[in-house]
Amino acid sequence: MAELEDFRRETRAWLEANAPESLVGMPFSELDGTWGGRRAQFASADMKLWLDVMGGRGWTAASWPAEYGGGGLSKAEAKVLAQEMAALRLPPPLIGFGLTMIGPTLLRFGTEEQKNEHLPKICRGEIRWCQGYSEPGAGSDLASLQAKAVRDGDDFIITGTKVWTSYADQSDWIFCLVRTDPDVVKQAGITFILADMASPGVSVSPIPLISGKSPFCETHFEAVRVPVKNVISEINGGWTVAKALLGHERSMIADAFGVSPRGGTRGGRSRLVETAAQYLGEPGGVLGDAILRDEIVQNEMDTRAFSLTVQRGRDAAKAGQQPGPETSMLKIYGTEINMRRNELMVRAAGPQSLGWEGPGFDEAELVATRDWLRSRGNSIEGGTSEIQLNIIAKRVLGLPD
Ligand SMILES: Cc1cc2nc3c(=O)[nH]c(=O)nc-3n(C[C@H](O)[C@H](O)[C@H](O)COP(=O)(O)OP(=O)(O)OC[C@H]3O[C@@H](n4cnc5c(N)ncnc54)[C@H](O)[C@@H]3O)c2cc1C
Repeated sequence: MAELEDFRRETRAWLEANAPESLVGMPFSELDGTWGGRRAQFASADMKLWLDVMGGRGWTAASWPAEYGGGGLSKAEAKVLAQEMAALRLPPPLIGFGLTMIGPTLLRFGTEEQKNEHLPKICRGEIRWCQGYSEPGAGSDLASLQAKAVRDGDDFIITGTKVWTSYADQSDWIFCLVRTDPDVVKQAGITFILADMASPGVSVSPIPLISGKSPFCETHFEAVRVPVKNVISEINGGWTVAKALLGHERSMIADAFGVSPRGGTRGGRSRLVETAAQYLGEPGGVLGDAILRDEIVQNEMDTRAFSLTVQRGRDAAKAGQQPGPETSMLKIYGTEINMRRNELMVRAAGPQSLGWEGPGFDEAELVATRDWLRSRGNSIEGGTSEIQLNIIAKRVLGLPD
């Protein structure tokens, strides 16, 4: 305990000395973090500095082994770091699918060569990743995917189309599922492979959305040559890797809705409570609207209970336990809380929650509007809520088909 307290003191002092002052308490949206990559964009010069200092220390991936560019912290130390960052209300230095999805998957399934090649670049934010799972005819029924990869010497030649590939237009590499054996039961003929988006034959078409800020793309592969050494685990054994990665994806989504600074509980008053107090607060700190007050309190309690449950899952993960079907419960519950929280923020802010750009709205209001719109996709991404319920019924509760 004494060692951990020393670590806490040192960490706090280091963060206070190294975190750019402009980032302390900054309003932060899920859409505006630093994703890194060859074409990285930074919200400010200080966000770049923040990535550089944290990446240099391995604290972008605090609990990954130091030999692969991580911080090498124990689970207790990584938790202390997260707590101290939350106390200062600092944004994460780096976000994205490298840290949350393909990185943990490589740590488990990657060869030494694959880990050495990709993990340090992920930690330093040098390469941005996207996810090529969904296809026009394969979303919930993912195993119906048709993008095919045909062996040609030391390469596979990939042909097909992926859809809803978030941020493909800004990504450097893609982890994707391809069909390598069309003659066997659906799941058995799938391979998990990594491809450089700069490979000849890869093209990306953005899909616009009504919100004006769409992450979605269609990603086309026209006879794209990808080395066989980019296969993760076995050829035709990709389904196991794919499911494991989905566990990380669902944990990531749940995590974002629970204890992360982006989710709402930032240490001290949450964004929801701050928003309600700002627009509807009365002298003495009471909210006049009793119905809204009750709903906010309920959401705060649910979020607190949920964040503790997520924390238990996170501790188990740091102790080496792989995420299982229980991540579907976290995903669906986190989705419900997050969507409700965003609705409540919009209700509390009233007309001020309708801003999109221009004068009349401050930065926090514009962030809240975008977060609310973004939250509508929560019940679809990472597998829809109906699919999560099916998984819980079959794999957690053991109910028959
Ligand atoms: C914000 C966002 C980001 C995304 N990012 C990515 C990405 O980066 N990469 C990627 O590969 N994909 C991505 N997706 C795609 C996502 O994984 C799919 O949209 C999702 O799996 C659902 O597939 P679908 O859209 O084809 O819907 P469908 O599978 O066609 O489902 C349509 C409806 O039918 C219901 N349904 C389908 N099957 C069943 C069933 N067996 N039982 C009960 N109900 C059922 C669904 O719940 C849904 O309501 C993203 C989606 C969103 C919203």
